[in-house]
Amino acid sequence: MMTRRLLLTGGVVALAAAASSRWWFRSPRAAGTFEVTHTDDEWRKLLTPDQYAVLREAETERPFTSPLLHEARRGNFACAGCDLDLFSSTTKFDSGTGWPSFWAPLENAVGTTEDTSFFMVRTAVHCRRCGGHLGHVFNDGPQPTGLRYCMNGVALTFKPAAA
Ligand SMILES: [Zn+2]
Repeated sequence: MMTRRLLLTGGVVALAAAASSRWWFRSPRAAGTFEVTHTDDEWRKLLTPDQYAVLREAETERPFTSPLLHEARRGNFACAGCDLDLFSSTTKFDSGTGWPSFWAPLENAVGTTEDTSFFMVRTAVHCRRCGGHLGHVFNDGPQPTGLRYCMNGVALTFKPAAA
């Protein structure tokens, strides 16, 4: 009973907060300082509106909308914000979720933060160089890592390997 009452109380508080602002609606921006920085105005000029919404405001693209979902060539997936290579095609797999998925990032490519939006605890993934939001990482991926990097395709660009 005690637990249930606490949960209810917490829910009411959260709903009250949600009613007064939209803080809960978006994932938090990655904190810290990054090698590549721009003002919001500059980012708006550099990125498409869809890229801006994901990379800079941590929104999530609709599933099954990214052309990169079916990108099967060899190459690297880079940050749409700063062009840093983030994922290799050798770690890409079809997760069935509708978002491009990888079981590992490239070395020194991404950072993570705890994301408590939407009343869930998730691990948000951002570009190590510009801090752009990329997606989330989950523990239900395939071997060898068991991780599933669930990425917004709009936050990535594909660079085919040289033939
Ligand atoms: Zn970046």
